[in-house]
Amino acid sequence: MSIRRKLIAGNWKMNGTMADSADLAGALADRWMKGPRPDCDLLVCPPFPLIVPVVAALAGTEVAVGAQDCHAKPAGAHTGDVAAPLLSDLGCRAVIVGHSERRADHGETDAIVKAKAEAALSAGLIAIVCVGETLEQREAGRTLEVNRSQLRGSLPVGATAANIVIAYEPVWAIGTGRVATPAQAQEVHAVLRTELALLLGEELAAATRILYGGSMKPDNAAELLSLADVDGGLIGGASLKAADFWAIAAAC
Ligand code: PGA
Repeated sequence: MSIRRKLIAGNWKMNGTMADSADLAGALADRWMKGPRPDCDLLVCPPFPLIVPVVAALAGTEVAVGAQDCHAKPAGAHTGDVAAPLLSDLGCRAVIVGHSERRADHGETDAIVKAKAEAALSAGLIAIVCVGETLEQREAGRTLEVNRSQLRGSLPVGATAANIVIAYEPVWAIGTGRVATPAQAQEVHAVLRTELALLLGEELAAATRILYGGSMKPDNAAELLSLADVDGGLIGGASLKAADFWAIAAAC
């Protein structure tokens, strides 16, 4: 048995209204109450304005709530940004940092991602640090080097197995229906764990969860989740349907 309890995290991205999120969170709460409960940790990450109602809808369950980003500073003149201590205050347990969509759309560098992850840890949140290569980088044979270097550059000071989760998300697999093969996923996950061991020591690396993300669905989850170094999933599209999210979690 692995020492790492699997984590299935839903990244709702920029989707949903108040009513949609009430339906989705309500359906998840329902499944939690009725059971069977999956043998893994569960997390959902709604858009910022939906965090409060989703926390309320999931109260009394062990489905945790997280955010999709935070600012590196705890407060101040940063129009439109959201600080990690506020997320914590709202009931969030975790925050995704360095998602490839943020890296691409907002020019987030490894240094920025690292600073955001450190802000998350300071606020008592788990930082889910995302890394992943583009198709161009994979085709140029740079996959392992790119992932190693993003991990090195994005890892917060003070990381422990309890306060960070790594998410490997090949950019070419996100939202495309094109999923990494088990061999491709395992290869990168193993390399990330080896890199973590160099950075944080063997013990911590062995205890840190590394999630796979990129078109994970009920029909491919079991195979991906059975891989030696895959400790869960960061689920985009399939997390918007309670039945699919639950089915993926049930595959743990
Ligand atoms: P996807 O997204 O499951 O829709 O591919 C995953 C992610 O970007 O977190």
